[in-house]
Amino acid sequence: MAITELREDGVLGRLRGETCPACGDGTLVVETYKDNRAVVCEACETPRAQLW
Ligand SMILES: [Zn+2]
Repeated sequence: MAITELREDGVLGRLRGETCPACGDGTLVVETYKDNRAVVCEACETPRAQLW
């Protein structure tokens, strides 16, 4: 769990909350994408970053 938190403070933490560059309207949120933690747009669901 600690490792996950560290990772989210990294790439995912930086991207989270930013405006989606794909649709320019949605906000990037951290979700589970294909069983992995990922940053996706809440509006168009375009993945921006994914951790394996
Ligand atoms: Zn979007």
